[in-house]
Amino acid sequence: MPSQSSTPRTVICPTCKTAIPYTTDNPYRPFCSQRCKLIDLGQWADEEYRIPEQEKPLPDDV
Ligand SMILES: [Zn+2]
Repeated sequence: MPSQSSTPRTVICPTCKTAIPYTTDNPYRPFCSQRCKLIDLGQWADEEYRIPEQEKPLPDDV
């Protein structure tokens, strides 16, 4: 009987197809990195990422 209690699940990064352990240590899961996550979200497109179309002030709850 296989014991999977201590074996982290492995997922494939949707962006670069790298196998990574699916753990809570990785805040970008199921992506391998922040970069891959941004790419998948379409936020890494050069101009759009560097130049926001409209400046939206973040709500500052102090
Ligand atoms: Zn990746």
